[in-house]
Parts: sequence; structure tokens; C-alpha cells
Amino acid sequence: MGIQQIEVYPVTLAYREPFRIAPGASIESHNVVVKIITDYGVVGWGESSPSERVTGETVGTVIKALDKIAPRLIGMCPLRIEHDVEIMDSAVAGNPAAKAAIDIALHDIFGKTVRKPLFRILGGYRTEVLTDITLGIKSPKEMARDAVKAVKKGFKALKVKVGVNPTEDIERIRLIREAAGENIQIRIDANQGWTPKQAIEVLNKIEKFNIQFAEQPVPAEDLNGLKEVKQNSPIPIMADESVHSPEDALRLIEAVDMINIKLMKCGGIHNAKKIAAIAEAAGAPCMIGCMGESEIGIAAGAHLAAAVKNIQYADLDSDLLLKDKLATKGGTKVQNSTRIFTKNPGLGIKTLNEKLLGKPKKIYK
Ligand SMILES: [Mg+2]
Repeated sequence: MGIQQIEVYPVTLAYREPFRIAPGASIESHNVVVKIITDYGVVGWGESSPSERVTGETVGTVIKALDKIAPRLIGMCPLRIEHDVEIMDSAVAGNPAAKAAIDIALHDIFGKTVRKPLFRILGGYRTEVLTDITLGIKSPKEMARDAVKAVKKGFKALKVKVGVNPTEDIERIRLIREAAGENIQIRIDANQGWTPKQAIEVLNKIEKFNIQFAEQPVPAEDLNGLKEVKQNSPIPIMADESVHSPEDALRLIEAVDMINIKLMKCGGIHNAKKIAAIAEAAGAPCMIGCMGESEIGIAAGAHLAAAVKNIQYADLDSDLLLKDKLATKGGTKVQNSTRIFTKNPGLGIKTLNEKLLGKPKKIYK
């Protein structure tokens, strides 16, 4: 059993509306889809959604990295994932979002080869995953209106983007809690937008609005700042931009209460499981998050979250924020704020929109 061919497809997917977070706004997601074809008829799909701001990667760097990785995987066994990841790491350092595309496709093949949905064979802890929906930055009043819309659609958890201006951020949270009601989970994400002093002040002032946790209050590299915020915050602190790899998780785990795992930061499902295990050993729950993935990358995150006990929270909503739908059949749907799975094997993606996918930019065989 071997990998026969790898195809690489850059895709551009439009957001429904400009999506703004503390460092800037996006109107499109620029992703790279990978198709791995085996010599026994099974085909796996993977996706990279690089974030230059977070890992320094772009569609260009992903394609360059895959150009070094893909030829070395031809002929390798797709089920020797540990070994295939080692090959990727020896072909090129870093480039986690590029590696995630291959890793996800290998896991899709794993599920399809044993004819089971991926979450069942990765651990199978849960059968469905509650996800939040993200409210991008707008005026506090507009965000409160967006919160009402989300709740009407059935979402039970809201992730609120903050980190622009402390006074306005407090107002955002106040109005959103008022609009959403008491029964909705609210978590916030400052995307590195505050200083430690601002973070401590805001977090203490919004405690009364019942906030589950606060993501990345201060700049990624400010380890001491993170620790200081954790020690002085009544709300648990979650690392996102500060933790990419399992090594980061080990180094940072004392500085935070929780970790946001993203397949695009850590290189895929294989490494994500390691981060979840390190955090679990330290008593820290994890969330699975996303960048701008379509249904392919989101399905990978959802299967992982269902499989692994310590991935207790999910922020898997980027496919919902995108207007363009890459998967026309299959994948994980959202019902009542919950990602549900089909019985389809692997990631469960059935058909892709050929027009959005286009022709492969590269074919390795
Ligand atoms: Mg975040």
C-alpha cells in the first residue's frame, strides 16, 4: 500500500462579510487543498489555511513547502502516519499549515481504509461536538445585534472578538451578554490586543458577565505578561498565538490555564493529539480552533475534538463564516450549535465544488 499521487490546489474562498479581529480584517480565505491518491484506490483530502500573522505562512510558502515534502512521500505507506510526519519534518522545518494539509489527508485515508468515521478510530470519546460561532469586531451595538442573530440560529456559545480598546471592549461584552441572555456561553478572544495591565483591568471588570475564558490577552511572545494576567485574572486564560507546537505547550503550560489547539499552528492531527496530552497531564483543558478552513479542515478539527477527551471546547466555525462552500456533499454539519457526523468514513467529505477547486497547480507522482 503506497501513496501514488499528490495533487495541490490553491483555492480562494470569500467570507460572507469582512471578518475583523484585533490585528486586521479579511474578506477572503486563501487556502491550499491537497488530494492524496493511493495505489489501492483510496483518496484522501486535506487542507491548509495559512495565516501569515500567526505562523508566517502564505499560499506561496505552503506550495513551496509541499514542493519539498510531496515528492518524498510518493511510494510511502499512508497509514504510517508517525513515519510520514517524520519525513515531512526532515524535508522542511516549520511550515505547520503546509504539513497540516498532508496530515489531514493521511488521516482521511486512515479512516477510509478501515471504513470508519475518523473520530471513531482516533479515540471516539464523544459522538458530537458543541461549537461556538465567532462575532468579529464591529461596534458594540452591532455586535450585540449579531449575538441575537446567532442565538436565533441556535448557537449556544459565542466567541467574542475584543482587544481593540479596553473601554469599548467592556461595553461590547456588557451589551452582548444582555442581548444573548444568561444561558449562552460567552468566551472572548483579544488576539494579543491588550497590554497585561489593560487585560487585568478588563478581565476583572467583565467577570460579572460570566465569561468562560479569555484567549490570548497579550502579545504571543510576552510570557511574563501572560503569567501576570493569569495570576490576576478571575477568568481562565487560554493561550492561542503563544502555543503552536507540542514543545510550546510544554514550555507555556504553567503560564496559562488552557490551550487553543489549531491544526494550522501545530502541523495537523498527529501533533494536536500530543498538545492535548501534554495539557491533560498538566490539568489544562484544550479548545480546538480554526483559521479560515473550509469544510475539509473543519471536519478534521471536529473529528479530533470528538475523539479526544481533553479537547473540551470547540471554535469550529470558519466554514460557516465563508460564503463559498467547497464541500457540496458530506462533512460535518452544524445543528443546534453542535457539529454532527455522518457514517461516511474518514473525514466524511463526499464531493467538492469542482469550480472552486479548479485544476491542480501541482501534481507529484
Ligand atoms: Mg484566538
